[in-house]
Amino acid sequence: VRALFLTVTVLTTSLLALASQEGAQKFDYQSDVARLRKIVINSLYSHRDVFLRELISNANDALEKLRLISLTDKQVLEGAEQMNITIKSWKEEDGSSRLYIRDTGIGMTPEELTENLGTLAKSGTSEFLAKAESTDTTGTGNLIGAFGLGFYSSFLVADQVYVTSVAAKSDKNPNPEQYVFSSSADDSTFEVYPDPRGNTLGRGTEITLVLKDDALEYVDTQKVTELVNKHSSFSTSFPIYLFTQR
Ligand code: ADP
Ligand code: MG
Repeated sequence: VRALFLTVTVLTTSLLALASQEGAQKFDYQSDVARLRKIVINSLYSHRDVFLRELISNANDALEKLRLISLTDKQVLEGAEQMNITIKSWKEEDGSSRLYIRDTGIGMTPEELTENLGTLAKSGTSEFLAKAESTDTTGTGNLIGAFGLGFYSSFLVADQVYVTSVAAKSDKNPNPEQYVFSSSADDSTFEVYPDPRGNTLGRGTEITLVLKDDALEYVDTQKVTELVNKHSSFSTSFPIYLFTQR
């Protein structure tokens, strides 16, 4: 109990720091991202469990990329020894509920945070968008299975999303720094700024979701465990550590 209390206290402090936006650069979402986010937020309520599958599969992709690059360039492994995924959910002292998915994968530079999360680089997602806009809500649900929704499915369950990331060390990125991408569900903009806490991750990405009031089931570790088991086929290659509270 003591250890748990200490952990929660530290997290509270760190997230308050995370929310401060000194030196923040503000961006508008690319218009097709804004459209996709709208569909996600408004019409996929009954499929929102998929957010965890999407985030775990992104974490797994990031770890695979790291592993592949490390075969020819060992320096990418500096910063964090392990290759794994950690999931934790908890209740803040201010009453909000949060969940994070952290990986020690390839990570993202500030430019990559802006480009990968602020634009639809991926053709699969664009295809989803085109189909979703010409289908009714029930049809949209089926499309998720076919195309995947990606990172934006976070907004199915979160009012606010923070993506903290440190890109792996490389010749192009000799001094990795930790940056934050921050976006709220009811806003068409996002911000990218240096993490005021400095480099706490070493390497990789941590996605923190501030859960919506009607998505508090995801703070329940039993529910999260159930979902992780359901989708564990996505991540057989790297261990997933799940913090549970008792
Ligand atoms: P997809 O995974 O199909 O490319 P997503 O919307 O899920 O589409 O993710 C968009 C992009 O954001 C990914 O292609 C990747 O470049 C980047 N990304 C997302 N999550 C992570 C992560 N955990 N680590 C590193 N990069 C990530
Ligand atoms: Mg993905």
